[in-house]
Amino acid sequence: MSRTIVIGGGLGGLSAACTLAARGHAVTLLERNEWLGGKAAVLEEDGFRFDMGPTILTMPRVLERIFAEAGRGLHDEIDLRRLDPQWRCFYEDGAVLDLKDDPAEAAKAIGELSPEDRAGFERFMDVARRLSDVSDKFFFWKTVEDLKDTMNLKANMSLATLSDVMALRMHRTVAGQIKKDVKDKRVAQMLEHFIQYVGSSPLASPAVLCGIAQMQQGEGVWYPMGGTRAVPLALERLAGELGVDIRTGCGVSRIETENGRTSAVVTEAGERIPAERVVSNMDSVRTYRELIGGDAWKSFAKTRKREPACSGVVLYLGLDRAYEHLAHHNFVFSRDPEEEFAAIYDRGEPAQDPTAYLAAPSRTEPGVAPEGGEALYILVHTPYIRDGQDWAKMLPAYRRTILDKLGRCAGMEDLEERIVVERSLTPQDIHDRYNVLQGAIYGLASHGKVLGAFKPGNRSRQVPGLYLAGGSAHPGPGMPMALMSGWIAADTLDQDAGGAAVADRRTDVAAE
Ligand SMILES: Cc1cc2nc3c(=O)[nH]c(=O)nc-3n(C[C@H](O)[C@H](O)[C@H](O)COP(=O)(O)OP(=O)(O)OC[C@H]3O[C@@H](n4cnc5c(N)ncnc54)[C@H](O)[C@@H]3O)c2cc1C
Repeated sequence: MSRTIVIGGGLGGLSAACTLAARGHAVTLLERNEWLGGKAAVLEEDGFRFDMGPTILTMPRVLERIFAEAGRGLHDEIDLRRLDPQWRCFYEDGAVLDLKDDPAEAAKAIGELSPEDRAGFERFMDVARRLSDVSDKFFFWKTVEDLKDTMNLKANMSLATLSDVMALRMHRTVAGQIKKDVKDKRVAQMLEHFIQYVGSSPLASPAVLCGIAQMQQGEGVWYPMGGTRAVPLALERLAGELGVDIRTGCGVSRIETENGRTSAVVTEAGERIPAERVVSNMDSVRTYRELIGGDAWKSFAKTRKREPACSGVVLYLGLDRAYEHLAHHNFVFSRDPEEEFAAIYDRGEPAQDPTAYLAAPSRTEPGVAPEGGEALYILVHTPYIRDGQDWAKMLPAYRRTILDKLGRCAGMEDLEERIVVERSLTPQDIHDRYNVLQGAIYGLASHGKVLGAFKPGNRSRQVPGLYLAGGSAHPGPGMPMALMSGWIAADTLDQDAGGAAVADRRTDVAAE
């Protein structure tokens, strides 16, 4: 059997490589950076340790399934802790709301802030549960590119399917659904932030993405001891044990085709590696545009206009004194979400009064900072990079905006006095480090009431032999989805290869 090449060792690439190798495929993984894990990188300085990208892990069942491919138990590989509260929310008017892990307690806390919204939240979660079930049934664990891939309406039309289609609420946005169920602006703002996991505006994203609320409330928010970095490290270990040939510092500049089918990849150093099948974990649009080109790129580009999701600025602050009033995960909300989303998603400008997400992981793992200190991570979403935006020039003023906001709304007036280590990540850094589309953190935006949730499918329709894995391919961005994307790409490839590798492996095992 010929070798399968995986381009990129982010969570999507690692997940694909592990799944393929576990099923008996010979896999080579080529990663342009010196580390694996892509955005799930780590920064260590003067006794502080920061996860540089993702900090919130949800849906561990996805990781469980990937480890199970190799007969491993997730909890033997990674020490996961369930967090409560899931988020602590700070508002401009001084209110503080904890999103509790237990949905009944979450509803009670919401009721204390806004009595009529206790029932409204429960109604919203009923809808979210239904939408999450529909996603599980029609959208997850298989390659999907458009509506017709989700369900075969002709073959399966039944009352149950019709009811599932109705549940999708295709006429409604995330914000529209939330507005229907809850009245208090602060509660609505918290619920709207579930959609920030996919870097899109709740005012433009399809209601089906309300299902994300259930994926978090129903399945928990988890912290891997060692940080989210523990996830790619565990996958890298597994890939090594399964015999994946891993080459870091090895960028790919071209995918070659023969009679339209993938035949080889060419590295930036000029090496040509034959490959009957290729999984690309590079941004999907850039894969077609830069690695493939020609008619396949033209055909991909004309199927649909693809817009990048949002970008962001991260400040990594090592503090000599901790802020004990912070939970592990916190949101400090903007005064006006509509003004904020209009800036980021419509005008393409950083919001003047932004929402800041803060991670204070020493609540769960004190070792991330020297004793009594805090490894504070602050993320503010910004637009993807527009022409003329120079973040080297824009950062100092925006840093001031962020710190002022935290002083005003989160009881952190003396923040600057506590800083002993400071590093940052701008949209331009994200663009350069991870080779993404215009600095996008979360791949492609999920905008559009009907098609918003659909991303490029995992099996290329343009190039036989090419598979896509990662946050800019189906089912989308965020740790669990990028991991699932890698699994789907691998599973689809394996099926296309006739599942021969699995059959071979089963015969080998039986013979032992
Ligand atoms: C600041 C930040 C905060 C986030 N917070 C969260 C969060 O709290 N929770 C959550 O679930 N998600 C979060 N995310 C999103 C999450 O990190 C991503 O969706 C996920 O990690 C994407 O994985 P991926 O495999 O798609 O891509 P990437 O991590 O981008 O990996 C792609 C890899 O491919 C490599 N590559 C690209 N081109 C080539 C080439 N030509 N040749 C060889 N290699 C190549 C890149 O170097 C990279 O290593 C966050 C992201 C960021 C940046």
